[in-house]
Amino acid sequence: MKKLSAILGLMIFTLFSQNSFAKCEVTLTGNDQMQFDLKKIEVPGSCKKFKINLKHSGKLTKQVMGHNVVISKTEDMTEITQKAMAVGIKGDYVPKDSKVLAASKLVGGGEHTTLSVDIGKFKKGEKYTFFCSFPGHYALMKGDFLIK
Ligand code: ZN
Repeated sequence: MKKLSAILGLMIFTLFSQNSFAKCEVTLTGNDQMQFDLKKIEVPGSCKKFKINLKHSGKLTKQVMGHNVVISKTEDMTEITQKAMAVGIKGDYVPKDSKVLAASKLVGGGEHTTLSVDIGKFKKGEKYTFFCSFPGHYALMKGDFLIK
């Protein structure tokens, strides 16, 4: 009986670790002080898709303090933020460029959005950054996007 419960326990643990431990989503919050609450997002290697729930906890409109989340190779970030200015708010400051690996829409205070990231485009060991592409925001609003 003891052995059976040990086996059952192990089975439950295995199920639990597959479902809950590899968490393929995260909540990222931006505020009116031009800050994200995370400096790093870690993606478990087993995730095929990774969901980012973006929340804007502030009160300012998206015209003044809009936030989105864009992911690219770290070396491509500056180029994307320069192109974003030309795109403007109508295009959510996201250039149509293959260097943009994932991008959410732009939200203002009190709004939220979700972004589904296709992890198949990412390689382990490569350096990626997530950032807000609203003009000037990437200086503060950025962090490492790591595939574990
Ligand atoms: Zn922003």
